[in-house]
Amino acid sequence: MNSSVMNTYNRYPVSFKNGEGSWLTSTDGKKFLDFSSGIAVNILGHNHSEINKTFAEQANKIWHVSNLYNIPEQELLAKKLCELSFADRVFFCNSGAEAVEGAIKVARKFHSSAGNKERNKIITFKNSFHGRTLATLAAASNSSHMDGFSPIPPGFLNIPLDEDYLKKNITNKTAAILIEPVQGEGGINPVPDEFLILIRRLCNENNILMILDQVQCGMGRTGKLFSHEWSGIEPDIITLAKGLGAGFPIGAVLSSENASKGMSHGSHGSTFGGNPVGCSIALKVLDLIEKEDILLNVNQASKVLFQELERLVEKHHNKILGVRGKGLMVGVECHEKNSVITDLAFEQGLLLVNASNNIVRFLPPLNISEVDIFEAIKKFDEALSNLDI
Ligand SMILES: *Cc1c(COP(=O)(O)O)cnc(C)c1O
Repeated sequence: MNSSVMNTYNRYPVSFKNGEGSWLTSTDGKKFLDFSSGIAVNILGHNHSEINKTFAEQANKIWHVSNLYNIPEQELLAKKLCELSFADRVFFCNSGAEAVEGAIKVARKFHSSAGNKERNKIITFKNSFHGRTLATLAAASNSSHMDGFSPIPPGFLNIPLDEDYLKKNITNKTAAILIEPVQGEGGINPVPDEFLILIRRLCNENNILMILDQVQCGMGRTGKLFSHEWSGIEPDIITLAKGLGAGFPIGAVLSSENASKGMSHGSHGSTFGGNPVGCSIALKVLDLIEKEDILLNVNQASKVLFQELERLVEKHHNKILGVRGKGLMVGVECHEKNSVITDLAFEQGLLLVNASNNIVRFLPPLNISEVDIFEAIKKFDEALSNLDI
């Protein structure tokens, strides 16, 4: 295609003209069942009337004001996020990578403002993904993503997800440990609760901050509003984005009072972060998660999806090898190349997303119905049957 857009995405040959719930309609009139949700973004499906109404009402009042002024919608959203979590303070931005950058800055400032300027190293883990800015590339340390972008910022130590490695690599220069409680792009790998509990303990013992990147696994995706709730521990900082605005770009860094104590006037900023439109929408999304009993639906829908996918693993055991994940963050390991299988699903009108390690991701909206799950399973079954091996 003769495009003026920079060539950073290998796109499917389709465009969508509208959406309704879990379904999208392409410009040529074909229906697609959306189990990608814009990569874990449209958590309440497409064209949700109440979100649309909130958007329109706010747009008719005020779109943007600078953070030089008080923004009531931002205050309300921050208060709500704190009520719903361990956090006491929130910084707003516009995306996941920005949220992770913000979290890194909060952690480094925590130590430097306490006189420990040397304590600035961040420990991260293999197979993680934290965004595409230079510091977040350094954090994930994925060589294919970093290729050609040197120099990559120093200060990150990327290690295997392993107790001995972790203990060996903690020093008095370690500022924070950054981890996704469920790795998303890395192939839907839930980190065992015991490992999160271990990190918490090591952080407490060594004056290190625990940062959980919940850009993908937060906002109800795993069946709890914040995925660390499964483990019972409280982190010091979490990052949110993707599902937070259910399709409107907004990101956030949530922090305890203690962890954010280095952040003062002028220490961080964002022109668009925390704008009235994004904040009104995110407030409405949190409201709807409660009102529509979304977490209950995630847990029930998850059981059905796992059961049905496991049935397909038995049926097509020479093509798919297993199912893993948490809540509605589900990965199917493929025998064949995963992109071949997502392409075949696409032909059946089912949108799925590839992940590393030959995983196909199922990320339906969190209000997905059982009927639509069975429809997706039917299409996936058909797609697998069409795979010649
Ligand atoms: C998607 C993602 C990011 C990056 O978010 P962007 O909005 O694309 O910058 C960061 N961390 C995790 C865990 C993600 O899944």
